[in-house]
Amino acid sequence: AGEVRFDQVHFGYDPEREILHGISFTVPAGHTLAIVGPSGAGKSTIARILFRFYDIQSGRVTIDGQDIGAVTQQSLRAAIGIVPQDMVLFNDTVGYNIAYGREGASKAEIEAAARAAQIHDFIMGLPQGYDTRVGERGLKLSGGEKQRVAIARTLLKDPPVLVLDEATSALDSRTETEIQDVLRSIARKRTTLIVAHRLSTVVDADEIIVLDQGRIVERGRHADLVRAD
Ligand code: ADP
Ligand code: ADP
Repeated sequence: AGEVRFDQVHFGYDPEREILHGISFTVPAGHTLAIVGPSGAGKSTIARILFRFYDIQSGRVTIDGQDIGAVTQQSLRAAIGIVPQDMVLFNDTVGYNIAYGREGASKAEIEAAARAAQIHDFIMGLPQGYDTRVGERGLKLSGGEKQRVAIARTLLKDPPVLVLDEATSALDSRTETEIQDVLRSIARKRTTLIVAHRLSTVVDADEIIVLDQGRIVERGRHADLVRAD
């Protein structure tokens, strides 16, 4: 499960000014699609539409053949997990931050869910335990540690569709490499949409679409696009 499809999507925040001019792509279940392009091209807008933060003016967006306009917000949230660029953490424990969105989850339940999602080792790779307080009045986590918590929170939902929205662009290059390895391994198991600026970060995506001013100007695998350069 987890096929994502955009079919001739037109959208503008202001109906007078169209931002996306007929975007079509299909991400088969389990595949990775990268959306690259310069700032302002419309990459984040595509992600926001998938979450149904905005309604499109025309076209169709489906997950597993179901129009996203016809499913409840709740089931849409369960189907899609996002790893944002810079997660804001609560001034609470690591465990609370990971389990946020899972009301009343006990430490044992979090661990069981984490294990089920095959991220137990990853979470345990944090130098601090679940009970450590973080944030202003607790331990200050590094950017990479914060991203681990963000990834763990998303993965605990075990969503069939994962959106990485410039997930490592706020990190230094050594931490970026570390987190990238983690992201690659979790992306292999589910449908993944990656938003990135550079073609070089998305070498192993199944398909790359290059967006410019709201239009797909190129598409293909990394080797094809580099050859065309
Ligand atoms: P990217 O993610 O590729 O940098 P965006 O999707 O953020 O591009 O933006 C695409 C276009 O939409 C830009 O021209 C931007 O100014 C405009 N835009 C983005 N968000 C909004 C908004 N909330 N209201 C109006 N215009 C917006
Ligand atoms: P850029 O620096 O190009 O803007 P970002 O920092 O926004 O790139 O990050 C894009 C993210 O997508 C990176 O963390 C990158 O490791 C990740 N990524 C690239 N290819 C894959 C893949 N095949 N599976 C999972 N994640 C990937």
